[in-house]
Amino acid sequence: MAFSQFAKGLVKASVRPLTLNRNYSGSIANGFNFELNETQREFQDTARKFARDEVIPAAPVLDKTGEYPWELFKKAHSLGLINCHIPEELGGLNMGVFDASVILEEIAYGCTGIATALEGTSLGQTPVLLTGNPEQKKKYLGRLVEEPLVAAYCVTEPGAGSDVNGLKAKAEKKGDEYILNGQKMWITGGGVANWYFLLARTNQDPKCPANKAFTGFIVEREWPGVTPGRKEINMGQRASDTRGITFEDVRIPKENVLLNEGDGFKIAMQTFDKTRPPVACSATGLAQRCLDEASKYALERKAFGVPIFHHQAVAFMLADMAIGVETGRMAWMKAAWETDNGIRNSYSAAIAKGYCADMANKCASDAVQIFGGNGFNSEYPVEKLMRDAKIFQIYEGTSQIQRLIISRHLADRAKELS
Ligand SMILES: Cc1cc2nc3c(=O)[nH]c(=O)nc-3n(C[C@H](O)[C@H](O)[C@H](O)COP(=O)(O)OP(=O)(O)OC[C@H]3O[C@@H](n4cnc5c(N)ncnc54)[C@H](O)[C@@H]3O)c2cc1C
Repeated sequence: MAFSQFAKGLVKASVRPLTLNRNYSGSIANGFNFELNETQREFQDTARKFARDEVIPAAPVLDKTGEYPWELFKKAHSLGLINCHIPEELGGLNMGVFDASVILEEIAYGCTGIATALEGTSLGQTPVLLTGNPEQKKKYLGRLVEEPLVAAYCVTEPGAGSDVNGLKAKAEKKGDEYILNGQKMWITGGGVANWYFLLARTNQDPKCPANKAFTGFIVEREWPGVTPGRKEINMGQRASDTRGITFEDVRIPKENVLLNEGDGFKIAMQTFDKTRPPVACSATGLAQRCLDEASKYALERKAFGVPIFHHQAVAFMLADMAIGVETGRMAWMKAAWETDNGIRNSYSAAIAKGYCADMANKCASDAVQIFGGNGFNSEYPVEKLMRDAKIFQIYEGTSQIQRLIISRHLADRAKELS
């Protein structure tokens, strides 16, 4: 077989089946099932079209201007591509993590900066979805369905991110209110949100354990004393709005406490079991884009008289990228499926998030390598992909923190074994 025929076969084998394999199933079957149901396929098609027609063309511009993608947010809102988890009785779609991630992977393929801008609101909503009482859900989730408004998740502070126990923002109870003072940092959607989930210390005793010291609140952006800072200029995902926010003598009515005083740490951590699979799926979308861009380029670009795809070193780099993408997809699917089926998924979510973040960075770096000098230049798509990829190893728990979670599970298991 001539090498060109072999290479053609290779491309078909590595690219086309991946497209087909982007059909997943969130339904419980008798054993494994890798097929999407009809509704899931419809949403996937809508999201894919949205990504192709709207997200991909807008991405390079928004990357340069750093402008928030309001028009895309509004369009996604009208198409039902955001607010997917909100219950039907409040006007939402009541989707599970799996189904919403099928949508998100498509948008992330188009641009993870835009995907983070659109998905950040889910992160803000999740604590309310998990623990809000009926009045809180109606008031705060209901308004997100009625209008294209954003929610945000305010936990990290200038002095503490991974070490949540080190948070300093404090809320002191005075009568029927809490008075909030403190600063938050790196808040996705911080400048555009209508309301925030916020974690603050309500027990000032330094000896009080984390799972009793913090309370989760819903804080409205328009309340006096809430001041978002400037939009941060980040390495990548520049369409997403990231800011610090100052809270000065903000009066929070006691009705805006989620669950009970002291339950905040638990709420903030439970949230990640639901939101890490989507982060992993977003990283997978980026990695798939890297693979597709690099595969196309490798067929077009010639060196030493042949398309560079014909050089085994390049073809194998692409093969390794495909291994990463397919494995990453399995990982996020499993973590999402588990949580949708009531199975505790902290372990599988940490594996998915840790693996997909590293895999996306490797794919982005290899895609730049395959593009050679062009890869280093902003006129070609992979330079942005590499800048966008880095944050996956940092937000929603760094890659080190994912390994900490995984290793704690391993230690528990080892104890059971011994
Ligand atoms: C673009 C962007 C968007 C973000 N969005 C949000 C948001 O919407 N809401 C929000 O609350 N936060 C958000 N964050 C914050 C993000 O979650 C934190 O930056 C992240 O958790 C790390 O915290 P840190 O920056 O304080 O780093 P640190 O915790 O100071 O960590 C610094 C380094 O030390 C390592 N490290 C720390 N502790 C350990 C340990 N025990 N073992 C091993 N290594 C360790 C870390 O892995 C890291 O490499 C965002 C951040 C960015 C950059």
